Amino acid sequence: MSIAENIHRIENELAGTAARLVVVTKTHPVEKLREAYDAGARRFGENRPQEMAAKQPQLPNDVEWHLIGQLQTNKVKLLAPFVHTIQSIDSLRLLREIDKHAATHHRVINGLLQFHIAREETKSGLTLPEAEEMLHSEEFRQMRHVRLTGVMGVATFTSDEAQLRQEFRQLRGHFEHLKGAFFADEPAFCELSMGMSGDYPLAVAEGSTLVRVGSAIFGSRG
Ligand SMILES: *Cc1c(COP(=O)(O)O)cnc(C)c1O
Repeated sequence: MSIAENIHRIENELAGTAARLVVVTKTHPVEKLREAYDAGARRFGENRPQEMAAKQPQLPNDVEWHLIGQLQTNKVKLLAPFVHTIQSIDSLRLLREIDKHAATHHRVINGLLQFHIAREETKSGLTLPEAEEMLHSEEFRQMRHVRLTGVMGVATFTSDEAQLRQEFRQLRGHFEHLKGAFFADEPAFCELSMGMSGDYPLAVAEGSTLVRVGSAIFGSRG
């Protein structure tokens, strides 16, 4: 199936649910991104700041760019002029850097706190106590150019549905806890980014608002 057909099929599956599609375009050339754009996609996810910064000027301005990979603080400046949401926030240090560079550009950048939910040791992300410590800090409370809009997580690479559901529920639990404790008056804190090509239908059933789908649209990344 073509890129357009895949996007339309997934959009149809998401219709009537809370979930919206982030098309994960990492490693794919700009022509493929244009195909996705022409099929109606407006949210693109990349995991490398340099790659995203190189592609962004070659696409129309109404694309929402989401960074979904680990971000080193010295790369924030590449993204600060245009990035919509940084989905992979895992430290106060990173928040500080985003706030600083967003201020330079008179912007507010959205961020999701990335949680460690997978069984694999290698997948990065915060624990709930680490996130709470950041949110309690006076420094975070003073930030005016970064706005936390929710949470993100990457589940274990497995076909075990019970395991996946448990991990998605855990992330949802973190989201609801933080919403009640820190963001009760902030409707903007509303995103639950979970679900990829192999597991997005389950994530949607567990309340995902953003699914990040690459290979189910473009085929596998060689
Ligand atoms: C690559 C990636 C995705 C998309 O993965 P697919 O299996 O190709 O859909 C989603 N989220 C993150 C964080 C990724 O790095």
